Amino acid sequence: MLKDYESFLENLNRVQEQIDRAILAANRPEGSVRLLPVTKNHPVAASNFALRAGIPCVGENRVQEALGKIEEAKEGVRWELIGPLQSNKAKKAVESFWRIQSVDRPKILTALQKRAEDLDVKLRILLQINAGDDPNKSGAKVEDAEALLEYALEQDRLETEGLMTIAPLDRDPSVARSCFARLRECRDRLAERFDICLPELSMGMSGDMGEAILEGSTLVRVGTALYGDRKYK
Ligand SMILES: *Cc1c(COP(=O)(O)O)cnc(C)c1O
Repeated sequence: MLKDYESFLENLNRVQEQIDRAILAANRPEGSVRLLPVTKNHPVAASNFALRAGIPCVGENRVQEALGKIEEAKEGVRWELIGPLQSNKAKKAVESFWRIQSVDRPKILTALQKRAEDLDVKLRILLQINAGDDPNKSGAKVEDAEALLEYALEQDRLETEGLMTIAPLDRDPSVARSCFARLRECRDRLAERFDICLPELSMGMSGDMGEAILEGSTLVRVGTALYGDRKYK
């Protein structure tokens, strides 16, 4: 973890430059890609740093770990869940997260809808798609995305804003790139099929954000490049 806020700002500037360069290379409008700092395995200071730099949203991949930090963090941080969710944690998740990006099966949709009804709230979600067909990654298969979205759209408490994917780890950058292209094509197909927008494409991390931006990412989830290696406390 970083020593201080100044080192965070240095890293943030470097990452932002990388994002801006990729946006230029992709011929996309300025500001069309947002950054989601990923604070998992880092102390709560990581989210406070982001907030102080004007970035309210941060990503966490475990519900339990996030809950502890949500208690401690400064007012105003918005928490996004980017890791696996079990339906028995759905209530906590709906109470605590601003958005859940890792929705990948009907059972979770049912559980989130029910909890959102109980709490009388609406919840933003993304559908996680395993666009790289990586056996080590969660996410619905591309072939199942249509049925999953159809079911998601029936849940009136859930606002489906787009899709999320994690590319397979591979030295060859073209592997990640084709995974991201596949997610974008899947989104375009679904948007047309259901006549909706699905604006958010959450794809790209420290190692592959350039490829993701070239393929249309609107949100890159970055941990290591902002906070250094993950060693908890
Ligand atoms: C950890 C994590 C990231 C960030 O990964 P880095 O390589 O540290 O940038 C992004 N997305 C998800 C889903 C993660 O679990």
